Amino acid sequence: MTKMSPLLKRNEQFAATYTPGPLGPPAAQVVIVTCLDHRVDPAITLGLQLGDAVVIRNTGGRVTPAVISDIAFLSFLAGQFFSGQVAAEGLFEVAVVHHTQCGTGFLADPGFRKQAAEATGLPEAALEASAVTDPHVTVQADVELLLASPLLSPKVSVSGHVYDIATGRVTTVLDARHPQATGNN
Ligand SMILES: [Zn+2]
Repeated sequence: MTKMSPLLKRNEQFAATYTPGPLGPPAAQVVIVTCLDHRVDPAITLGLQLGDAVVIRNTGGRVTPAVISDIAFLSFLAGQFFSGQVAAEGLFEVAVVHHTQCGTGFLADPGFRKQAAEATGLPEAALEASAVTDPHVTVQADVELLLASPLLSPKVSVSGHVYDIATGRVTTVLDARHPQATGNN
């Protein structure tokens, strides 16, 4: 017995009625970037079905160089294999979703941050930059960061949203925009 045992039982039930789908673009044409917090699982909060959306999760749901590389790879892949199956308006929309009560908010405290730096091996400055104290502010910063990246395909749009842990509601902060429409950046 491991802690996985009850979950593996659930997998048996899942596999009993499972039919594999073909490799193709995500049905909802959305890539979600969000926090790894178990309270904000987008499969549940956004009602995702298998094959609906690509989900990239990290601490805070921040747009890091690794996230930008993943998105660049996904758009390259989609362009190579699914160009006939994707909508004329673009490959997919990247939805950055930050949330209230994010655990990264503790990183705004210098004492906590110092200890976290020792525990993770990450520089204090990097931890400070990753803190989501106000998700409305950080989600806007991350959408702009992604839109400004030279690695972002012009066929990809980016939107920003905040998930409220208290209400279960997702609010759109920035509507979907393509990189060339950013203008003043
Ligand atoms: Zn979080």
